Amino acid sequence: MDVEEFRKYGKEVIDYICQYGTNIEERDVAPTLDPGYLKKLLPADAPQSPEPFKDVLEDFEQKIMPGVVHWNHPKFFAYFPSGNSFPSVLGDMLSSAIGSIGFSWASCPAAAELETIVMNWYAKALGLPKAFVSDAPGSTGGGALQGSASECVLVSLITARARAISELKGQTSVHDSVFLPSLIAYASREAHSSVEKATKMALVKLRIIDADEHGRMRVDLLRQAIQNDVNAGLTPFFVVATVGTTGGCAFDDITEIGKVCREVSSIWLHVDGAYAGNSFILPEMRVFSAGLEYADSFNTNPNKLLLTNFDASALWVRDVMNLKSALNVNPLYLRHEHLTGVDYRHYGIPLSRRFRALKLWFVFRTYGIRGLQEYIRNHMALAKKFEMLVRKDERFEVRNDVHLGLVCFRMRTGDEPNHMLLAQINHSGKMHMTPAKFNGRYVIRFCVTYEHASEKDILDAWTQIKCFAEEILRDHQLESSSVPTTPEGSERTSSEPVAPVAGKPPIKKRLTRTKSLRFSFTRSISREQYQSQSEHLMDGCTPILVVDPKTLQENFQKAADDNDRNNSNGNVKLKDISDVDTDEASN
Ligand code: PLP
Repeated sequence: MDVEEFRKYGKEVIDYICQYGTNIEERDVAPTLDPGYLKKLLPADAPQSPEPFKDVLEDFEQKIMPGVVHWNHPKFFAYFPSGNSFPSVLGDMLSSAIGSIGFSWASCPAAAELETIVMNWYAKALGLPKAFVSDAPGSTGGGALQGSASECVLVSLITARARAISELKGQTSVHDSVFLPSLIAYASREAHSSVEKATKMALVKLRIIDADEHGRMRVDLLRQAIQNDVNAGLTPFFVVATVGTTGGCAFDDITEIGKVCREVSSIWLHVDGAYAGNSFILPEMRVFSAGLEYADSFNTNPNKLLLTNFDASALWVRDVMNLKSALNVNPLYLRHEHLTGVDYRHYGIPLSRRFRALKLWFVFRTYGIRGLQEYIRNHMALAKKFEMLVRKDERFEVRNDVHLGLVCFRMRTGDEPNHMLLAQINHSGKMHMTPAKFNGRYVIRFCVTYEHASEKDILDAWTQIKCFAEEILRDHQLESSSVPTTPEGSERTSSEPVAPVAGKPPIKKRLTRTKSLRFSFTRSISREQYQSQSEHLMDGCTPILVVDPKTLQENFQKAADDNDRNNSNGNVKLKDISDVDTDEASN
């Protein structure tokens, strides 16, 4: 493509993006397609000869777009927001066009220096403790942009692990891995799965701490667990507190957790605020950031709640020397003579780094802190509006404390009608939501995500939700009146009446497993649940079969015994075990 073609098609693409944004409501928020749809539309091999760019654009609209979930659609209420905005897209375009790989100051001085400046702007805008701001007097801290919150958690954990091992090791020359079995990390049951993943990757133990009825980590249990583990000779080294949990947007009490962590010098306190950390840009939300002065590290994603497109996840640490000593490698080919320039390759996992600070800089400059505050306040007000609508209807209940943009609601029935409600919502293609288990109950998460979300979007969504609910409740009521005791019926308590619904005849809409595969979320279920579902999955999830460890162990033992009996050479036929599970899971 020459520059004139680029100019022509570049303008066309910008026009397309403008149209897309303006007319997005004409599209379904999520497609209803079966897996493999694209394979049927595209050739199996890349073209040998160049193709006209206009053909590529045409195929994009006709073949790719129909398989897109529109995360920036006014009726997208799933997950957390995928931050996005025009200034951010433009900043990202320039970053792509420049294409510099900023692993060291020398490899792109502007990228390195802008990242430092923007991370300090950001830290100050959120009111973070001065220890995280690299240009604050006496500070040893600072921040860097990573690819995701999961990466921030992993980087923090690896850094904490290196610090703890270095303390345990002292001057001895034993290998670091010798200390791994003694290390133990802690997170609440409501913490994000990225914590579990990080501990798996780092080969350290994780103790899950129970949460209270608001979804906050039980600090008394944390203290007790740490005490027990110290008594048992383990080394507590990493605690994750969450501000804005994924399931219910609960805020852990960082101050109380921080005080416990201070009692054990080997503990590194990480605070994960992937979504809600951004809300500290509002003075009225800083009640939830109290205690951050105890934290060794903190992360939040501007690509969730700060109008910045993926990927951009901010990680700050109290002492950057900890990061550097955990992650520093310095081969000759990466060295340079500008020793005072920051080399961000020591702040994370990859060597190569995109110029991510550019889009964040564009966002801060074009919205200003005030504009960003207004955007978040709008989300908060709309979530409160939705909460109020749900609470006013006695057939429904709200299960979480609504502080930001997330409302977790359900019908006052057992779980099955709620699975069906979510399935109907998502199957309609007109709205998109996801489920969670919050405080032991199945809930539907309704998160305000759209940049220009309005009261009308919320009212329209509520009207549609009620329509689906009415059909399901009517159906459910008839079912439960004809069947005296069902597992769902037994779940209901006297405080959870099913409101009578008069009028239309019952409509039974169950989703088949094939249809359920069309939805874009997955949920792990036990073998018993999996088998009892027969061909119906109620919430439209893609099921993942979770094999419980006891069954796995039994299968393992059985295979070993069989092998022994068959006089084989003693190798356990592990393949046999996994084959069985995989086959069942793909049924
Ligand atoms: N932490 C929390 C609290 C989250 O809600 C999420 C995702 O929603 C993550 C971590 C993982 O974020 P990422 O997709 O950036 O890895």
